[in-house]
Amino acid sequence: MQDTQTTSGTAPEGALEERKRRLTEDAVKHVWRHGVTAESTRRSAGPIAVRATGVRIEDIDGNVYLDALAGGSAAATLGHGREDVADAVASQIRTMQWVSLRTFLNEPSIELGRRIAEITPGDLVTSFFVCDGSEAVESATQLVRSYHRQRGNPGKNKFLYRKTGYHGTTLVGASASSSAEFREWFSPLAPGFVELDACYTYRRPAGMTEEEYGEACAQAIEDEIVRQGPETVAGILAEAIPAALVLTPPANYLRRLREICDKYDVLWIDDEVFIGVGRTGAYFGCEHYGVVPDVITVSKGITGGYIPLGAAIASQRVMDVLYADGGAGQAKVSGHTYSAHPVGCAAGLAVLDAIRDEALVENAREQGEWMMQQLRTWAQTNPYVGDVRGKGFLIGIELVKDRETREPFPKSWGVGSRVVGAGMRNNFMVRATGDVVTLFPALVATRADVAEMVDGVIKAIEEAIGELDD
Ligand code: PLP
Repeated sequence: MQDTQTTSGTAPEGALEERKRRLTEDAVKHVWRHGVTAESTRRSAGPIAVRATGVRIEDIDGNVYLDALAGGSAAATLGHGREDVADAVASQIRTMQWVSLRTFLNEPSIELGRRIAEITPGDLVTSFFVCDGSEAVESATQLVRSYHRQRGNPGKNKFLYRKTGYHGTTLVGASASSSAEFREWFSPLAPGFVELDACYTYRRPAGMTEEEYGEACAQAIEDEIVRQGPETVAGILAEAIPAALVLTPPANYLRRLREICDKYDVLWIDDEVFIGVGRTGAYFGCEHYGVVPDVITVSKGITGGYIPLGAAIASQRVMDVLYADGGAGQAKVSGHTYSAHPVGCAAGLAVLDAIRDEALVENAREQGEWMMQQLRTWAQTNPYVGDVRGKGFLIGIELVKDRETREPFPKSWGVGSRVVGAGMRNNFMVRATGDVVTLFPALVATRADVAEMVDGVIKAIEEAIGELDD
């Protein structure tokens, strides 16, 4: 990132400070910012990002941050500043920016639907294109309910979901979340959402093997379906690898989940909005476990953050029911003005080309394995690292007060937040959910990039833990 002068360097110091002050005040007044208080926005004056290239983001002061989070929320899977995607988007806007899917088909969406069917496992063939992850989840639940209605089972309409999972912020997403904040602030939530425990391998009962734990977690799903009455349960919303805490499941767990779903005609929505399209070193996280869901949801990685797009991708088996021979009996599943937006789909095609041509899934797998090795070696020297886990470019480091007993740090110590703060002070972006520190770089990150990220996260953790001793 050479050209830092235009935004900061040429402006006299006072003028830059005044511009930052004005932008920050305008932001507080005119732009609602989720997850960050107005006070914190004012205190940190943003930070205001002005440009980004590769795995670096520059702020208005000319500070350059190393981005181990693909833009902050895992979307920028190709890194920042790609000319190929910019060209594809600009060209589509010039050719035909948008027409409604109700009236016209458009070629980019047909081509992208076909390309997605080529990379999904099993018979996941039909994309319901929307604009983001929450909408993809919402559409997925609608098409699952429609599937059961079509089959004469309208009473099969409940969804199971797991604690600590995240499925977005629409009413469905919030209703499938155990977040106390969501439940309190957005209530009344949608009826028919039933909570299950997370499958949290590191925190399994003492003395239980991973396999036994996987079996027990799957059994809990079956027990809940039976308790609710199988004739009332439509589906289960479950990420193959829940990303927030990087909960890689025991090898047998998803296989058993699949069997249970088949037994009770419950459809599995594998929410891969975070991990799908290459992040875990496979196109889809479920591939690591040899299982095929009924519906996969994607968003972030499908356009690499260049433009919003999401999709619920349904299996042929589900589509056969929804189409019902393609006549008047076809199911009702809602759509949006921007369903299958041609520009979003053109971006998606450019992104899939780049992932294939640059072998980025393989890169995520290889560089991710190397990062994991480095971090595990370092973890042996640090008594506060309980677990280092993940797949490909989805890595979690769980910090604990006592490695032997796995006792967590008291919540009030805010260890994870301290790590994030220490990272930002050193111009390094890392995330934490509770005390699980997470890294999810762009798929394009090179060995040199990830080596810097490993150093960055170690430094941030050591600084944060050092603060506790002070
Ligand atoms: N599902 C999962 C697994 C997610 O990680 C997210 C967002 O992080 C969503 C759904 C919601 O996606 P969006 O923020 O695009 O609405």
